[in-house]
Amino acid sequence: MEQTSKQGHPKGLWVLFGTEMWERFNFYGMRAILTLFMVNALLMKEKDASIVYGGFLGLCYLTPMLGGFIADRFLGNRNCIMLGGLMMALGQFFLFFSATVFGGNLGLANTLMWVALGIIIFGNGFFKPNISSMVGSLYPKQEKNKLDSAFTIFYMGINLGAFLGQLICPIIGDVKDAGGIRDIHAFKWGFLAAGLAMVLGTVIFYFLKNKYVVTPEGKALGGLPSKNDATDFEEGEAQKAVFSNKSLITAVLGFLALGALIHFGFGQNWIYTIIYSSGLSLAGLIISDTSLTKVERQRIYVIYIIAFFVIFFWAAFEQAGSSLTFIADNQTDRNFFGWNMPPSMVQIFNGLFVVLFAVPFSMLWDYLRSKGKEPISPMKQAIGLFLIAVSYFIIANNVKDLGNNGLLAIKWLILLYLIQTCAELCLSPIGLSLVGKLSPKRFSSLLYGVFFLSNASGYALAGTLGSIMPATGDKFKKAAELGIDLQGILDKKVLATADQLKLLAENQISPTNPVFAGFEIHNLYEFFMVFVVLTGLAAVVLFLLTPLLKKLMHGIK
Ligand code: GLN
Repeated sequence: MEQTSKQGHPKGLWVLFGTEMWERFNFYGMRAILTLFMVNALLMKEKDASIVYGGFLGLCYLTPMLGGFIADRFLGNRNCIMLGGLMMALGQFFLFFSATVFGGNLGLANTLMWVALGIIIFGNGFFKPNISSMVGSLYPKQEKNKLDSAFTIFYMGINLGAFLGQLICPIIGDVKDAGGIRDIHAFKWGFLAAGLAMVLGTVIFYFLKNKYVVTPEGKALGGLPSKNDATDFEEGEAQKAVFSNKSLITAVLGFLALGALIHFGFGQNWIYTIIYSSGLSLAGLIISDTSLTKVERQRIYVIYIIAFFVIFFWAAFEQAGSSLTFIADNQTDRNFFGWNMPPSMVQIFNGLFVVLFAVPFSMLWDYLRSKGKEPISPMKQAIGLFLIAVSYFIIANNVKDLGNNGLLAIKWLILLYLIQTCAELCLSPIGLSLVGKLSPKRFSSLLYGVFFLSNASGYALAGTLGSIMPATGDKFKKAAELGIDLQGILDKKVLATADQLKLLAENQISPTNPVFAGFEIHNLYEFFMVFVVLTGLAAVVLFLLTPLLKKLMHGIK
């Protein structure tokens, strides 16, 4: 077949691969320097930057619901991909402007940043669900068995892009001189590179889509829904989910009630509240549908249970762009074979390791399957959570004796990303395909929505958890320069004067330790142990639930 390359995958896969690669370059390249830009140029506290960052990422995974809906009803996948790509590029150019003007006009720079993040959130919502759903449509029914390897290839594209973005944007955007002084005017180049990458991705897609992004019969995929001649629909898929007005109203009321509870009862900000309550009310809406059979309902419960545990995974994993980057910046010896690596580049090891290990991992599962020993998906996910706990346990023990001025060796952060990447490969692609296998067809995109909302919730929780990072080495050094005994003040052994408190506030240094669930976090060791406990507990409980989940899955592995 003309449209199929030698490896047996349609050429369209490579177009989607390239488009997604440049898009992820744009997203992760920006993510690498975003929090450092907020803290160093826009003078935000690290704590607040973490909260904003968590909310931003969370919203990026909330809007795909909207993007998917608009594509299905009105614009089609192709248009949404191009619209989303252009919006994200525009957002990056706004960040570029923000990073250009902050020195003369901090207020304007802040406004530009908020507008930029808003545009990127919606751009991502248009882009992300539509490109992923086109991957599956490229394959004829009799070749659906190629989907696992198609998604593995696609996941490599994602991470190759992340790798390149986290290489280029930090090199040009996160620049420190030999004395360790940062050039805060360089961030703009990182954002500009991210924007140009997105333009490139969109242009590639625009020019190649008609020739390659087509059905096995050569018909255009993802066009306007009104013109769809249904070739890219599965049999039976026309049977769309229809909810009664009563259940829709109940869901809206549930959304409002949960929102009130989460905001006023648990003190979460409005953004986090919207993320948590939309996930829960959508989940409630689906499960209350009366057309569900017993088996379907039990399988959906499995999706929900998995989605709940996935929250803890992303909350711990997504420290990469906030607290772990701050630690790489402020308390790490980043000497990498004689080269002082930019702090924002340390997270590159995640993308790199995914590219290296994605294929070996899928070969491992194939091998275990052939021996009849492949663990079922929830078990793989429990392993993923357990590995995250291990990664934080190792790093916790390495920061234990650093005190407030010792430096963490970069190799420990690299090891952390190595273990976390193995965890990701056990959990992330597996989760995506499990949702596909367990969902009744008519609810499939909505259940993907619930699953993405659990990712969003994980990111929101990541923001909250990142904000409890205690003071790092740079804060103690700065305080010492100001003649202030920060450790003494934090330990409540020294009483700070009003002048000292003012000086600390001016330097974005908090005079008290952060508190989480009633526990005061005194140092980085305790901070990392929070993640060990959370993900470790989640792993054990999920592990214990596995036999039950296996039953509820009714034969699906
Ligand atoms: N790193 C992957 C991506 O960017 C997965 C992220 C996720 O599912 N939360 O697409």
